[in-house]
Amino acid sequence: MPVWLLPAAVTLPLKFDLFVSKQDSVPFSTERTREMSLNGRVALVTGGSRGIGRAIVETLAADGAKVAFVYHSNSAAADEVVASLKEKGLDALGFQADVRSKDAADKVIADVVDAWGSVDILVNNAGIIKDGLLATMEAAQWQDVIDTNLTSVFNFCQAATRQMMSQRYGRIINMSSVAADVSNPGQANYAASKGGVEGFTRCIATELARRGVTANAVAPGFIQTDMTEAVVAAAGKEIKKKIPARRLGNPEDIANAVLFFAQESSSYVTGQILKVDGGLTLGGL
Ligand code: NAD
Repeated sequence: MPVWLLPAAVTLPLKFDLFVSKQDSVPFSTERTREMSLNGRVALVTGGSRGIGRAIVETLAADGAKVAFVYHSNSAAADEVVASLKEKGLDALGFQADVRSKDAADKVIADVVDAWGSVDILVNNAGIIKDGLLATMEAAQWQDVIDTNLTSVFNFCQAATRQMMSQRYGRIINMSSVAADVSNPGQANYAASKGGVEGFTRCIATELARRGVTANAVAPGFIQTDMTEAVVAAAGKEIKKKIPARRLGNPEDIANAVLFFAQESSSYVTGQILKVDGGLTLGGL
């Protein structure tokens, strides 16, 4: 019987034998044995107490970083994140702040530097939706989304890059959305904010590259979090039919993309927008 028709349990030892080095008899393993790449690094994640932000906090911490995060108001959720990481022997600190405030951003960055000596990785994840058609959108609805999703990115990037440029090292990862490219009625404010995040990211990438600081963005598709709960409940299975991967994304799918950009070894990758959407925007079907 050809090897590829055998059940996995039978083929594994066979494959394993094939990879035994003739020189030293040390078997090559296909297991992930990568060292934790973020050991010694300090990360700051905005909106880190739930959803995608929480998964990013957990992923960066599991990879060796000390992780500080900003939460808006739910201190119980923030305490729970810190406690669950401490249980695993991982370092985390939660800071209450409103990302719309420049002063708050300056203070959080200063506090993290005071606590841990630097900020090496900044993830601007906090964001909101306040959908409404243009004809009836209130000015406050527009402004709140722009301030939370876009001005916050300016606030934290400016505060962190002063320190990153002086240490000649930094990784900035901003959260965009496929909504920057794919238009949905009722999301003019959200699309404008995320399009702004992408343009901003590409521009600062050119300013910071020579100082050892990269800036990239992740653009998620439909990810299962509180933010999409109502949409998913309303559209149900219809959404999955539009996604070639036939599933919604998990917060961990996004966290893994952030981890790629956060690594020291990604030093030659800058100004990029990575869509993580199960193929949603490929235009198939
Ligand atoms: P979420 O609503 O679960 O979490 C958003 C986080 O941002 C929360 O922790 C919230 O407290 C924080 N936040 C909001 N306003 C804040 C403020 N003024 N100050 C401080 N923190 C504030 O949403 P999520 O789905 O985890 O989204 C995270 C990011 O991913 C957002 O930028 C969102 O636009 C983006 N995104 C999400 C999806 C998706 O399908 N869930 C798709 C594309 C992009």
